[in-house]
Amino acid sequence: MAAKTPSGDGPGFLLRNGRVLDYFPPELSADPSPRVESVDLRVRGDRIVARGSGLTPEAGEDVRDLDGAVVMPGNVNGHTHLYSSLAPGMPAPRNVPRSFTEILTEIWWPLDRALDAEAVFLSAAAGAWEAARVGTTLLFDHHSSLTSVGGSLDRIAEGLSLVGLRGCLCYEVTDRGGPGSRDTTLEENDRWLRQVAQRRTGDVPRFCGLVGAHAGFTLEDDTLDDLAQLCEKHQAGVHMHLCEGTTDREVCQERGWKDPVERLVAHGLVRPGSLFAHGVDLTPLDLQAIEERGAWLVHNGRSNMNNGVGRAPVDRFPDRACFGTDGVDDNMWAEMRATFFRGNEPGRGPLGFRGAQRFWLGGFRLARECFREPFGTLDAGAPADFLVCHPFMRSPLATDNWLSMILFGIQAQHVAEVWVGGRRIHRAGDPAPVEAARCQAAARRVWDAMRGLRRGAKT
Ligand SMILES: [Zn+2]
Repeated sequence: MAAKTPSGDGPGFLLRNGRVLDYFPPELSADPSPRVESVDLRVRGDRIVARGSGLTPEAGEDVRDLDGAVVMPGNVNGHTHLYSSLAPGMPAPRNVPRSFTEILTEIWWPLDRALDAEAVFLSAAAGAWEAARVGTTLLFDHHSSLTSVGGSLDRIAEGLSLVGLRGCLCYEVTDRGGPGSRDTTLEENDRWLRQVAQRRTGDVPRFCGLVGAHAGFTLEDDTLDDLAQLCEKHQAGVHMHLCEGTTDREVCQERGWKDPVERLVAHGLVRPGSLFAHGVDLTPLDLQAIEERGAWLVHNGRSNMNNGVGRAPVDRFPDRACFGTDGVDDNMWAEMRATFFRGNEPGRGPLGFRGAQRFWLGGFRLARECFREPFGTLDAGAPADFLVCHPFMRSPLATDNWLSMILFGIQAQHVAEVWVGGRRIHRAGDPAPVEAARCQAAARRVWDAMRGLRRGAKT
């Protein structure tokens, strides 16, 4: 395994002449005030400690001239699945899935059962490296590896740490493996949440956690009660899929509930800090219930298109809304563009510039709420998590055009350096921190195991 060389040791850094874009005041305010300024940034430890024009170098400081390059906060992915990182290129199932449920039973559920402990780690390491290369520095991961549950969130954390990213982790609790398996998945969330609670110090936390759950249609009512108890115990929200397709509503109604949101509300899971992904098949009343209870709804536009589940009502999403990639990749610019462009087609309401801004900034708001740190700003006291773009930018970036530049100007290939916690964790052209041959061998092993699972298991 190639060693990563920390570049943040020593007395610190002075980054001069950056064209700095940031989104929020440094305090934990939910009100954005995006601005672009040409300033210097001083980095000590894992935080920015000073910002201003013409900062004087201090003794021993590593001074770097950015030559006008754009500096911006590292992007946040509100919902992803690192466990699917080894999926690209896998053989297609013999029977082409005809529905969203068959996509799960033929592809994703065999995959999550085929992952062993090493494959979980390699999925996270490879996925994290791909994320860093496209400028994503903080991920809300939703993990599943049903035959390798205990300790799996540690494997995910190891993979993220190898690259240097931050993560809010959880395990997808489900009843599809039976009560014993269900209990193991609950315990993994409990274990992880106890662990991250113990780690909190004055440093910016590398990790935090939520209570993970797959989706209402694979969860029994008593399991929802167990999840609510875990939320209470750890004062955390739940992270789960909600109405990605129509299955959630159908199964819920078969069980005697009016709708999936009512069921989750009744079990106390629609609460501040909860994070629901997709929300394609939601009614205006469902959306209102989520809004009123201060929960988050994450839009995963490209995944929705790929799975053919329909168009989410993004123009009615609650105040707490952001973008996720659902494991497609971690390119947040691509995610926002896809939804913005699709919204300009006839059909459901458009996203528009106002919506694009709300969802884009929502990722940083979500990170601020969960980590209780001022992500999304590059001012004194903020985590030193930022991207340095290539100095060539064909049009000027300013306070009044930042959103247009994010939508149409700045792209993943402009990311020259990625900094997290005051360390440069990636520079364009750097080698991967994990061997490709090892990842590819694990991918083959997982794909072979999936073949047997498709024939034998439908759970
Ligand atoms: Zn998902």
